Amino acid sequence: MPSVPFFNYPALFAAQEAGFQAIFSDVGRRGAFIKQKDLEDFETSLASFLGVRHALGVGNATDGLEVALLAAGVEEGGEVILSSHTMLATAAAVHSAGARPVPVECGADHLIDPAAVEAAVSARTRAILPTQLNGRTCDMDALRRIAGHHGLLIVEDAAQALGSRYKGQCAGSFGASAAISFYPAKVLGCFGDGGAVVTNDTRVHEHASELCNFGRNAAGDVVRWGFNSRLDNLHAAILHFQLRSYGQAVCRRRRIATLYGEGLNEVAEVVPPPAPDSDPNHFDIFQNYEIEAERRDDLKQYLKDRGIGTLIQWNGEAIHHLTVLGFTQHLPYTDWLFTRMLMLPMNLSLSDDDVHYVCANVRSFYGYPQ
Ligand SMILES: *Cc1c(COP(=O)(O)O)cnc(C)c1O
Repeated sequence: MPSVPFFNYPALFAAQEAGFQAIFSDVGRRGAFIKQKDLEDFETSLASFLGVRHALGVGNATDGLEVALLAAGVEEGGEVILSSHTMLATAAAVHSAGARPVPVECGADHLIDPAAVEAAVSARTRAILPTQLNGRTCDMDALRRIAGHHGLLIVEDAAQALGSRYKGQCAGSFGASAAISFYPAKVLGCFGDGGAVVTNDTRVHEHASELCNFGRNAAGDVVRWGFNSRLDNLHAAILHFQLRSYGQAVCRRRRIATLYGEGLNEVAEVVPPPAPDSDPNHFDIFQNYEIEAERRDDLKQYLKDRGIGTLIQWNGEAIHHLTVLGFTQHLPYTDWLFTRMLMLPMNLSLSDDDVHYVCANVRSFYGYPQ
C-alpha cells in the first residue's frame, strides 16, 4: 500500500542535505551564532522579497505577534479583533501584549469575515489582527476600509503566508506590522523555532528591536523594559539559503493544488480551496490544502486506513471554543466549518502520483467510479 504521510521532515532535509551541511560547517567554523552577518543579510533579503522596509528576526512568530502588536502601539486593555479560525498563538499574543482577543466568524474562504469584524468593533477596539490563513491573504481592501473608518491599527498574522499576495501586494505589508513564522512545517521552515516581524515603519521596527533585545536601543542604552527573542544566526543562514529557491517551492505547491482541484472536481461532497489562478486578486502559496468534506471524520479514517495522513487544523478547536480561557462568543458558522474542515497532504515531498492516489481514495470513499 502506498504511504502518503501528512508531512515528511526527513525527506525535506534529505532533498537539500549537502547544502545544509555546508551551512552548518561554515557557520560553525566561524562560531557565528548570535546576531551575526547571516542574520543581517537574511533580514535584508526577506524585507526586499516582501517589499517592506524592515524585517527583524525573532525567536518565533508567537513572540513576533506580541512584539508586532506592542510596537504598533496596541495598548493595555484594548481589544483586538481576530478570526476564531486561527492558531491559539494569535490570541495568546494579544493576551501577552495586555490586550483582549475578540474572536469573530470567518467566511466561506476560511479567512476573517470583514462584516463580522465591523460588527465586533467597540469603543475599546484598537486593532484588527487578520490571519492570512493557509497561504491566502484576506480581502485587505475591506479590512483597511473598516480600520480607516474606525481609526484602528492593522497587524497581520502572516505566519502561514510568506509570499502570498492580494492585488499584487505581499501579506505582511498591509498594516502597521506583521509576523511570519519559520516553524519547520511552514513553507519557509527552519530546523526549530524562528520568526520575523516585518514593517514599513522605521519607528515600529526600532521599538520591536528594542523589545526583543532586553529593551536596549541600537546604541546599547536601555530605553524600556524588554525581553529576549532572537532568530539564531544559523537558522538565518539556513532560511536565506532556502529563500533563494522559494519561488520554485511555491510554484510546486500551486501545481499540487491544481492537481488536487482537478482530481476532486467531480466530488460534490467536497469543497476544495480556490484553484491557484481562479481569482486575479489572490496569489496563494498553499501553506495548507484545507478542504471541506461531508462525513469528514469517516473520510479521515478511510484515508488513514489507506496510508494517507490528514490533519484537522488546530486539533479541531477554534479560539472561541476555548472557554477555559474565558471566551463566551457564539460563532455558528465557524462551528459548522469545524465539523467539515480537513487538511490533505501539501508539501514538497509529494509526487504527482501521491496526489492522484489521495484523490482516487477521496473519490472512492464517496462512491465515485475510478
Ligand atoms: C504557526 C503559526 C503561528 C505561530 O508560529 P510560531 O513560529 O510557531 O510561534 C501563529 N499563527 C499562525 C496562523 C500559525 O500558523
